[in-house]
Amino acid sequence: MIDFRSDTFTKPSPQMLDAMFTAEVGDDVFGEDPTINKLEIMMADSFGMDAGLFCPSGTMTNQIAIKCHTQPGDEVICEKMSHVYIYEGGGIAFNSLCSVKLVEGNLGRITADQVLEAINPNDIHKPNSSLVSLENTANRGGGSCYNYNDLVNIKKVCKKNNLLLHLDGARLYNALVAKNQTPKQYGDVFDSISICLSKGLGTPVGSVLIGKKDFIAKARRIRKVFGGGMRQGGYLAAAGIFALENNVERLAKDHLHAKMICEALQAKDFVGTFLPVETNILIFEVTGRFTPVALAKKLEENNIRVMAISRTQVRMVLHLDILPEQVEKTIETIQDL
Ligand SMILES: *Cc1c(COP(=O)(O)O)cnc(C)c1O
Repeated sequence: MIDFRSDTFTKPSPQMLDAMFTAEVGDDVFGEDPTINKLEIMMADSFGMDAGLFCPSGTMTNQIAIKCHTQPGDEVICEKMSHVYIYEGGGIAFNSLCSVKLVEGNLGRITADQVLEAINPNDIHKPNSSLVSLENTANRGGGSCYNYNDLVNIKKVCKKNNLLLHLDGARLYNALVAKNQTPKQYGDVFDSISICLSKGLGTPVGSVLIGKKDFIAKARRIRKVFGGGMRQGGYLAAAGIFALENNVERLAKDHLHAKMICEALQAKDFVGTFLPVETNILIFEVTGRFTPVALAKKLEENNIRVMAISRTQVRMVLHLDILPEQVEKTIETIQDL
């Protein structure tokens, strides 16, 4: 099976497993797991931030950040298709008792003007706008990336209006590689960043939240309340360290593979609008001869798995377990459809 459903389907390589098996561990709830401590410091340092917090999932790192940055009754500004809103089980309401102001972006990206427009005036009728949450790359935007200047402009609006700025950077390394940006640039702009190790970086479990010292201290308390305090989690963190050392630059290969498959698909009569392919995600409309579900079924018969994500769209995601020869085979299969 060539599995394009998500970059979460990767399995740890023998080398990554070896790093995990040989990890030095301790009880992280007591702050005594040396491998988790190392991973947290590595991530924070590389982004020029103070501290980090290793968590079981990206949902947890996002939700902890939102909880830390808000008070009950506040409002969070985010794009209408953002993961924190549509894929985290209503967690903003459930965990933080906040409302959400949705902004319609361009491929998941919003602008400083839109943020300014979305901030409520100081009026007792209105919830207090306290946080902006951005997503980069934007999953439902087809893996789209922000231009750095647009982020700087959003930060200026946040600062001027006393709002905090969080980044759901589940696939931030894909954006860094695609846009030739640096982690430090992001550390300069955001109050907190959530990064998944279990997507394109290929680890089995884990996300890291980074930010200021006081913020991470508060986040550590909330992680415990959410049930995310792990004990000898260093076995998992070791996979993260291995991934940061070995699996970042190679993301460019996934981006190239995505463009190659996009080209093959665009030649087909049943493929409609294609979201621009900037990173490792392909989202395209399926029309005419196939419905998204029928196309997925047809490809499955050829040992290729894709995901129908709406009544009109299919998503494919490249990752490190999809090898060049499998990309070739996929392209041949598409050409024969
Ligand atoms: C996958 C993902 C997350 C976190 O998901 P988990 O499955 O909880 O790790 C957050 N944001 C985006 C954009 C994602 O794609």
